[in-house]
Parts: sequence; structure tokens; C-alpha cells
Amino acid sequence: MTKERIKIALAGNPNSGKSTLFNALTGLRQKVGNYPGITVEKKTGICNLDEDIKAEIIDLPGTYSLYPKSIDERVAQQVICNKDNQAYPDITVVVADATNLRRSVFLITQIIDLKMNVVLALNMIDLSISKGVIIDVKKLSDQLKIPVIAINARKQEGIKNLKKAILKATSENTFEDFFSVKMLFKNPIEDTNKLRGANNDYASFLALCMQEMSGERKNREELHAISKKHRFNPSRAQAQETIKRYKKIDVVVDNCITVVKVKGNRSITKWLDDILIHPIFGYVFFLSVLFLIFQAMFSWSAYPMDLIDSWFTNLSIWVANTLPAGVLNDLIVKGILAGLGGIIIFVPQIAFLFAFIAFLEDTGYMARVGFITDKLLRGFGLNGRSIIPLLSGAACAVPAIMTARTISSWKERMITIMVTPLMSCSARLPVYTLIIAMIIPTEQSWGPFNLQGLVMMAFYLLGFLAALGTAFIMKFILKAKERSFYIMEMPSYKIPDWRGVIYTIVEKVKVFLFDAGKVIIAISIVLWALSSYAPGNKFKEIENKWADIENAEVHIAAEKLESSYAGIIGKSIEPAIKPLGFDWKIGIALITSFAAREVFVGTMSTIYSVGDNSTQSIRERLESVKNPDTGKAFFTTAVGISLMLFYAFAMQCMSTLAIVRRETNSWKWPVIQFLYMGVLAYISSFIAYQLLS
Ligand code: GDP
Repeated sequence: MTKERIKIALAGNPNSGKSTLFNALTGLRQKVGNYPGITVEKKTGICNLDEDIKAEIIDLPGTYSLYPKSIDERVAQQVICNKDNQAYPDITVVVADATNLRRSVFLITQIIDLKMNVVLALNMIDLSISKGVIIDVKKLSDQLKIPVIAINARKQEGIKNLKKAILKATSENTFEDFFSVKMLFKNPIEDTNKLRGANNDYASFLALCMQEMSGERKNREELHAISKKHRFNPSRAQAQETIKRYKKIDVVVDNCITVVKVKGNRSITKWLDDILIHPIFGYVFFLSVLFLIFQAMFSWSAYPMDLIDSWFTNLSIWVANTLPAGVLNDLIVKGILAGLGGIIIFVPQIAFLFAFIAFLEDTGYMARVGFITDKLLRGFGLNGRSIIPLLSGAACAVPAIMTARTISSWKERMITIMVTPLMSCSARLPVYTLIIAMIIPTEQSWGPFNLQGLVMMAFYLLGFLAALGTAFIMKFILKAKERSFYIMEMPSYKIPDWRGVIYTIVEKVKVFLFDAGKVIIAISIVLWALSSYAPGNKFKEIENKWADIENAEVHIAAEKLESSYAGIIGKSIEPAIKPLGFDWKIGIALITSFAAREVFVGTMSTIYSVGDNSTQSIRERLESVKNPDTGKAFFTTAVGISLMLFYAFAMQCMSTLAIVRRETNSWKWPVIQFLYMGVLAYISSFIAYQLLS
């Protein structure tokens, strides 16, 4: 007999250690999806509470209270406040940062007052002790009248006790208000209780404050009428309640906390902050960090990349020689393996990039970067919070655009969304890497810095500058009434948790390989077919034409490709891209890249493997391409730079467009984005090619 699973929601302030606890409870049994209808990431996982009771855990987005201020917070509020919600939990575990108890307790007292089963996981207990903040856990539990368990999610201490407490709390249902809101707003709450047909004062109060019920916009008119009748002003009521609730929380927290003096610790944070958020040294340090990242991505990852490259080359040779010659052999070697090799090779670089981003976020440094860049970004219509989407955009615009949700000002959020895709994402990396390797000599280096790394960094910088420039223009175009403000807490510095960093890397590489990989393999196969077949008897005619001539294979293959379906498509756009230095073969790659940029490498690899020695590495293959007019190498510096500029600016990613549509809830924004980026790409490639060639 299978037992029903207990549903647990993990709630808590951002940075309280929720994800760490989620990982500790579920290990690798996690699933990432989306909440229905919106793009907020939904993480769920399975955990064994004891030998025969399993729980399904849902990791809610970080939230400070049940008064949502961003889309993320609204999702958390809807899950907790809406009994009809599919994800409505049997029990909520609130993760609190022990070093910041007062603020963490606010959310939990709200949940207590909703009469829900709840357990408080008092996390980061090690940090609070080292800061000299001693919390009397038993007393806290007595005063809140809920189980409180001290844990260290990072070291996985206290997890067993937490599981026991969860099991116990799901079977005991005694609810006592922490703060009785009815004392303040008796009449409107009683009327709302009647309307809701349920006697839950705090749920009614929240419905009145939000002017909606159960997270849905139903009964708005009735709620409106009740508010009017009792002169209930939602925002004033909310403020009044918050102040009174905090007063009570202060008493409880003061009662349970003893602060002892500890030497040294505070001064380390202060000492580091003196440098890291210094108006000059802060920037110097930040730029050095960026520089280190690009050097690492370029030079350190060369070894694993070479390894993967030679491995794929050997595999292709082996398959080509082992399988009987024919369509299947062709499809596997030139269609599938060529596309697959083109994508797997970039895993080391993507892993490095995400390792750095996860590491910097974990140490608490990213929040400082937000702080020092706030002033600068503000001049461009953005704010300090935009730095996270922008920097994450260097990995992938899709999750980056989702993180823009924490920006509360509409205008700054829109600008951030519109310019984030200009940041050089990991999908451009394969394109840059390939072209740089062809047009920039490896020998050129100064000490540990080589020219290839510098060019790579220059292109990343270019993406960033283009983002700033576009933001600056949009600042004057978009109109907004609200004023923006910037609040971001400064978490204390921490030594990063390697397990967390590794989880992030594995997750992101998986997404890159599987999500992008699916598209790439599919497109590679389509491309292979398009370049292996032609309308009518074209191929036969070509074969007949060269039939009596010896060693004509190369000519036959070239003519076949030109007359194939792919050749026809590429040729039809050639007049438009010729001024940029591109031929019809690149034209095919440009078209397929509109689905996803990284397809470029696979496409080039497939197209240039037709007829050539397909077991050469893609770089060798492209380097040997000759310009039919000049007889010299086709991929000159001018063509390479023009191509890189095109990929730097053009909006070639269907996933990003889809996300922008969902995040902005209209087609208008993705269409504008597609157009302005396309124009920018064409003009800059045109200028670069004309100047350099
Ligand atoms: P979330 O934003 O709530 O999901 O927070 P995370 O799980 O990402 O944790 C934020 C940071 O706190 C990470 O660097 C964690 O490694 C760290 N962390 C989490 N739990 C503990 C803990 O119990 N002790 C210490 N020292 N650090 C922790």
C-alpha cells in the first residue's frame, strides 16, 4: 500500500538558506518546473521523513512577508494563502536566518495567524553563535507556540530533529494566534469572515488588504463594499498592522536573545567592506574579478575542451569506418555527431562561468557589486538590482530576465529586460571561441594574459556597453510615474559552500545540454537533410557531368551543396548579407541560429563537413576554406569581426523572446527587442566589414 505523501512548503526570506536546506532534504531528487501560467521557477523534491513516510517539498521563492511586493513574493503568498492552490501545503517550514531573527520572525507570525501547521527551522545557528547572538530556542518555541528547531543547513546538522518535528506537527492541530488583528479591525473582519464562509480572522484581513480572495481576483466588489462600509483603508491598515506586529515581535525576540561580546568577527566584514565597496578600489577589485573570470574561461578550459574535441574526432572516425557506408553512416557522422560535438565542447566554459557566478553570489560579494554599481547604473535608467540580471545574462538571458522580477520599479524592470540579451550569453561563447581561434594568433601573449582572452573580454565588455547605451536611450523613451528606490541587504561574508556551487553547475550544464541540445540535434538533422538533398535530378546531373573526370569528388560535393535545398536558401539571402562579408554558407548558419545562437557551430560544422574530410576538427575545416574570388583564406579578420559583431547584437534566441513575452505579458516588447537588436547587428557588422576589408 502506498502512503499519501505529505506536502511541505519551504518558505523564508531571501538568503536565509532555504535552497541549502532544500538540497539537504532532497539531495538529487529534485525537479525544476514552472508555476502554471507564469515563469516563476518551481522547485520540488522528494524527502524521506522516516522509513515509510515520504514528503513532497516545494521550495517557495524567497519572501519577507505575505504582503507581496514582487512577482516572486506573490507566488509564495498565493501558495500559502490559497487553500484551493494545487501546491497548498500540509505544513510550512519557515527557514529563518538566526543572525537576523527579528526580520525572519515577521513572516512566520503571519503564517501562524493563518492557522497553518508550521515549523520554524532556525538556520545559520553557527554564524549567530560566532557573532555572539545566543538564541534560547526553547523559549522562542514557547512564545511562538510552534516547534522551533536549530539547524545548520550547510553542515546538515539538526536535519533529523527537523524531520521529527515536521512529522509531529502534521498530526497536531492546535492553532493559537500570535497577534490578534481582530482587536484592530473587528467589524470589517467579521463581515469578511461571513463572506468567505470561514472563521479565519487573519485570512480575512489579508483578503481585505489585498482586495482579493485566496490569491484570486474574485469577490472584489464585495470586499470593496465591506471596506467602504467600515472605512477600511487597505494600505493604512496594512501599515498599522505591521507596526503593531513588529512591536510584539520585538518583545519576543528581546526575551529570547542574549548578545555577548565577541572580538574580531565584525571587524573582518567591516575591513573587507572598506575595500570592496570603496568608490575606487571597489571598482578596481570588481574589474579584476571579471578579468580573472574571462582568463579562466578562455585559458583554463582549453585543456578539457581539447580533450573533448579529440574524443569526438576519434569517435567520428570510428563510426565512419565501422558502419557500412550509406545514408545512416552519413546521418550519424555528418548530422548527429557533428552537431553534438559542436555543443558538448563548450560545457567546460559554461561550467567555469557558472562556478564563478555561484561562488560570487555565495560569498556575499554579489550584493556588494549591486551596491557599488547602483549609482552608475542609475544614470542609465537601471538600478543596483539590475546587476544580477545583467551579470547572469553573461550566462543565459532566460533565467537572467526572470531574476529581473525583484526590481520593483516598472520602468527599471522593463529596461533591464530589454537590454539583458545584449550581454554576451554562453550561447555566443561557442561562436566567439571558434572565430577568435581562427583569426587571433595563439602565440600573442603578455605574461599570463593572452590576446585571445583579451579579445574575448573586449566582446563581453562590448555587450555590456551596448546594454548600457540602449538603456540610456530607453530611459528617455519610457515614461513612468513611480519613483524608484534601492534596498538590498548586505549579507555577511561567507566561505562558499562547495556543494551548493556544484549543484548550480550541474543544474545549469544540464539545462544547457538538454534544452539547447534538443534544438541543436534537431536542427543539425534537418540541416544535414537540406544539404544532402536537392530538388529534381540535380545531384544526378552533377554526377554525370563529372563522371569521366578523375579526382572530382571535391568538385562534385561543392556543386551538390550549392544546388541542395540548403544552398538555395542560403543563396536567396546572400545579396542581403554580402555587404557584411558573409557568403551563402554563413547565410544558412545565420538562418538556423535564429532558433538559438549556439546552433551556428553545429551548422558550420555540418555544412563544411559535406564533401570535406568530415573527421577534421571544425576549426581546421573552416581554416581551410578558401575565398573563390581571391584564392586566400575565406575567414579573414574582417569577416570574423563582422560575424562576431552580428552575433553580439542580433536577437537570435527563441527562448529569450518567449520569456520576454511571458514576463511582459505582451508581444510588443519582444517584437521591439527583435527589431532594434537586428538593426544594431546589421549596421555594426556592415561598418566593421567595410572598414576592415
Ligand atoms: P536562499 O536564498 O534562502 O535559498 O539561501 P541559500 O541556500 O542560497 O544560502 C545562502 C548562503 O548561506 C549560502 O552561501 C549558503 O551556503 C549559506 N548557508 C546556508 N545555511 C547555512 C548555515 O547553516 N550556516 C552557514 N554558515 N551558512 C549557511
